[in-house]
Amino acid sequence: MTSPVDAQNSGVVNRAASSRGPVRAPRGGERTAKSWGAEAAKRMLMNNLDPEVAEHPEDLVVYGGTGRAARSWEAYDAIVRTLDELEPDETLLVQSGKPVGVFRTHEWAPRVLIANANLVGDWATWPEFRRLEQLGLTMYGQMTAGSWIYIGTQGILQGTYETFAAVARSLGRDSLAGTLTLTAGAGGMGGAQPLAVTLNGGAVLIVDVDASRLERRVAHGYLDEYTDDLDAALARVVAARTAGEALSVGLVGNAAEVFPELLRRRHAGTAPIDIVTDQTSAHDPLAYLPIGVSVAAWKDAAASDPEDFTARARASMAAHVAAMVGFQDAGAAVFDYGNSIRREAELGGYDRAFAFPGFVPAYIRPLFAEGRGPFRWVALSGDPDDIAKTDRAVAELFPDDAALRRWLDRAGDTVRFE
Ligand code: NAD
Repeated sequence: MTSPVDAQNSGVVNRAASSRGPVRAPRGGERTAKSWGAEAAKRMLMNNLDPEVAEHPEDLVVYGGTGRAARSWEAYDAIVRTLDELEPDETLLVQSGKPVGVFRTHEWAPRVLIANANLVGDWATWPEFRRLEQLGLTMYGQMTAGSWIYIGTQGILQGTYETFAAVARSLGRDSLAGTLTLTAGAGGMGGAQPLAVTLNGGAVLIVDVDASRLERRVAHGYLDEYTDDLDAALARVVAARTAGEALSVGLVGNAAEVFPELLRRRHAGTAPIDIVTDQTSAHDPLAYLPIGVSVAAWKDAAASDPEDFTARARASMAAHVAAMVGFQDAGAAVFDYGNSIRREAELGGYDRAFAFPGFVPAYIRPLFAEGRGPFRWVALSGDPDDIAKTDRAVAELFPDDAALRRWLDRAGDTVRFE
């Protein structure tokens, strides 16, 4: 075994980020590494950090709060260098974003093995994780950032589309036409929600504290429009619901304030909201903005006193989730979108947080039980025509699957390649 990293890790991830220029994966049919296995891993890692794909590439953050592709820029450079030199019968071992060894294996072994953010049970707490992260000893990998298979918001779009299609069916409807969905969090994954709802024919209001996230979704064709005026946003989506039209509107605001206000309006009969969910980065209290903190002050406030910030974020999540339960009590379909907000709200002092279900048991597990999804594939060439070819092959393989056909037709017309 050899060790590919001799450089000391400082634990500071954004060193030299600005001087190196944007990361962009090689494209086309020529290899730069010694095998296609290593080339694929390298292109995927680099593509994860392409500014077109990553949410905050300068910090190595791909998506999902602080989900990173590599622990530091030194570690990133060492990974790329090692993949270029890796023999076709060798395997690279990556420990929480840092390359730690190369083994002689065999041609059919995995070219890369990755383990991220593992802590022994009794030490698996945020304060201990952050202590180790600060020392440069670990990294948060989320699900697809640290495994280098994030491909932008497009990667989660079909799953989100299927989830909302299942919500429509659970309401006895063929589509979401004539319904209004309220959600929050327009980040790397959550940003798929507005397009998933409109592809299902519905109207949707999506709340995010950070205008730049909503701006990005509009630029990428995932969101129709956005505003910071609640009255104007509500009027637009209510009109679309009444007309049975598909429309997505973003609202710049804090969900912990906006959701309770919209619940009051629903009780007053002016906000006919049918479906409620949320995809803020609630799994990490430092990635959820509490009421009373501005986006500009966010990073410093979280870094200077993480314990206080966590307590404030959890109190805000309690208000946010209490409003979601209020919508359910008033007859709306409400579900958690996998971000642990119910648990965090409970820690924030709200005891009915688990009154509504999670999206996996409610909508996704039944689809998997039928043998549908999850699917994700990538053309390493970077050529959209190669994706079109695989789409055609899938359509020929499953000629009787109407939902799949509808998805392939609509996605082909609507979804911009990232
Ligand atoms: P992200 O960090 O890219 O985006 C989160 C967004 O939430 C940001 O745009 C942020 O500005 C916004 N936000 C934070 N606090 C807010 C507040 N108080 N009010 C309004 N907006 C606020 O994260 P992501 O990749 O979009 O993932 C979102 C969450 O969904 C994560 O917790 C992730 O683990 C979870 N998740 C998603 C799926 C899925 O299939 N889509 C599955 C499992 C888990």
